Amino acid sequence: MAYFPSTMPGPTPNFDDREFWQACERRQLLFQTCADCGKPRHPPGPVCPSCRSLRTKWTEPEGLAEVYTYTVVHHASHEAVKERLPYVVGVVTFPDLPGVRLVTNITDIEPSLVRVGMQVRLWWDEIGGGMFIPRFSPITP
Ligand SMILES: [Zn+2]
Repeated sequence: MAYFPSTMPGPTPNFDDREFWQACERRQLLFQTCADCGKPRHPPGPVCPSCRSLRTKWTEPEGLAEVYTYTVVHHASHEAVKERLPYVVGVVTFPDLPGVRLVTNITDIEPSLVRVGMQVRLWWDEIGGGMFIPRFSPITP
């Protein structure tokens, strides 16, 4: 069962992030990385902000992610999330991909127990239509 009800709008991939979402369909988390200077970035874009290269490759993070920051949502911004309140929107980072910050949900934990710096593990939320969303849960709830 999906984390949010099926009435929750899914992603609408664009030219730049299409490969990111296609990887998610395969349940693979890939981040765009500059093929020249090696700097990873997210969200995906056409040009490396470091060296202006147009050449990219895709890199999968290794190991656990870490909560960089988060907020607890108490008011529904969309009808579909009402039954899930309160929930946590977090930004996670990856030790081997400096500079990458992914906005996601921290799940399977009482929201008041989420902490900056806590380690979280990726899980794939199947939202229907063959699409999977990367979400994260603590390794020790
Ligand atoms: Zn670069």
